[in-house]
Amino acid sequence: MRPVWKLILWGLAAAGLAHAAEPIRVQITTGGHPYDIAFYSLFEGRQDLAVTLNPHPSAFRRDLRKFADVLVLYDLADVDDEKQRANLQAFLEAGRGLVVLHHALASNWQWKWWYEDVVGGRFLMGQDGGMPHSTAKNNELLNARPVAKHPVLEGVGESKVNDEAYKGMWLSPKSQVLMETDSPNNDRAVVWIGPWRKSRVVAIQLGHGPSTYRDPGYRRLVHNAIVWAAGRTN
Ligand SMILES: [Zn+2]
Repeated sequence: MRPVWKLILWGLAAAGLAHAAEPIRVQITTGGHPYDIAFYSLFEGRQDLAVTLNPHPSAFRRDLRKFADVLVLYDLADVDDEKQRANLQAFLEAGRGLVVLHHALASNWQWKWWYEDVVGGRFLMGQDGGMPHSTAKNNELLNARPVAKHPVLEGVGESKVNDEAYKGMWLSPKSQVLMETDSPNNDRAVVWIGPWRKSRVVAIQLGHGPSTYRDPGYRRLVHNAIVWAAGRTN
């Protein structure tokens, strides 16, 4: 091979490597629900993530596509503002990832597009369409075991955490369930892939407090979910 071609190929390879090594831009959005500050330890030491915190009410005021590859929701808020809804929709239409954690499953619980097309599940904060209010019960010992083969479950085994049980949620038949529990106080599905096809969406019900944040399986799960949602694993 002529040296000039070698040089071009090396340049292309180097560019590819440089791109792969770029950290995933993650926007964490909180607000509307209290949480322990230890939550942020979930992202500690992750060199592959560039994390920013943007809570409500400013969370979706700007064009998210310019700032984030993945949105991690740990909020409990309804987005009613038209412009903010449009920003959120544009982000997901553009193929950017979404990870919905724990109480964020109750966000936008009456926004049909959100829970039906995107998240594929919802915690009902009140009665709706013949369904009663979902319920929550704290300090429950919940087991969670993988029930599928998926990059989000890479290195994640069965785990048992002291967390908050949710019951009576709505789960879309189009959601792909990745982990289940057999706790009688909790719905079966605890981790699933949302039905949205224009980007990648992961919902993780677990994640109430520090004991779960410390759980190695949970830490791995959340990190895997972000990396997969960013399109870095297949
Ligand atoms: Zn909780």
